[in-house]
Amino acid sequence: MSLTSSPKILLQRLGLRPKKTLGQNFLVHPHQARRIVDALKLGGDETVVEIGAGLGALTVYLAQEARRVVALERDPALAEFLREEIFPEAPEVEVLCQDVLKFDFLGLSRELGRPVAVVGNLPYQITSPLLFKLMAEKEAVSRAVLMMQQEVGARLLARPGTKDYGILSVLLTYHFASQRLFSLGPANFYPPPQVDSVVLRLTPAAASPPAQDPALLAQVVKAAFGQRRKTLNNTLTAKAADFGLSPEQMRAIFAELNIDPGRRGETLSLAEFVALSNKMSELSKD
Ligand code: SAM
Repeated sequence: MSLTSSPKILLQRLGLRPKKTLGQNFLVHPHQARRIVDALKLGGDETVVEIGAGLGALTVYLAQEARRVVALERDPALAEFLREEIFPEAPEVEVLCQDVLKFDFLGLSRELGRPVAVVGNLPYQITSPLLFKLMAEKEAVSRAVLMMQQEVGARLLARPGTKDYGILSVLLTYHFASQRLFSLGPANFYPPPQVDSVVLRLTPAAASPPAQDPALLAQVVKAAFGQRRKTLNNTLTAKAADFGLSPEQMRAIFAELNIDPGRRGETLSLAEFVALSNKMSELSKD
């Protein structure tokens, strides 16, 4: 069995069908897999974690470029195929049949004494929880090259005041610099998904100014976007008690920061959210 076969033929030979519940849309063209791996710019002594290795389209190139590949694949049949048929004699490729959302990136990077590169053609249904996980464990990540649904990519890159701007746009921009690399249409996958896909590179960023309490920043952003089209008066001022503050204190914070509380959450920039959460954190300690 070899990877020169198309995913359709490989799956047929294995007696398997693509599982929608696991977001199985396999890359058809090796040159697209190569482009994704090239975008990581791996150094030969690096460890890379692959999310959802599938039939190994990316994994074979990763194995050529990295010192060690930790290939996560939740589907036991595919993990076994990779282990036994594609990488039976490749000690540098470790196939783990595991849910990436439970993977300990921090533990692995601690063990290695350096952050790891992360790559994946993502199962689309886990994109948001995975991004939140990468934010929480960003010290463990040197960079990530991820393929996701075009519309999710647009949300990550969105600017304040646009329809795509949301919780993910603000929080991801706090933690990572994101760059759009290229898009791929449905014909690049088997089976073809309903939507276009985009590949992004995320590089951990030191936010300036930093949030004194990143968990509070996340809470403030979520509250401000909780009810779209509502003003800050209706979201943050009305819910001041949730943050250990009075509505008067909240109004004073808006006045001091020169933020009109008649604005909607979706018009605030990351810098304004950081300034807001820092003031709220100071006052709630008094
Ligand atoms: N990398 C392969 C490719 O590009 O052809 C497969 C990509 S496919 C879009 C996503 C893969 O992630 C599938 O093989 C699926 O079984 C696997 N997967 C789904 N959920 C997962 C999870 N929570 N953790 C790890 N792998 C998962």
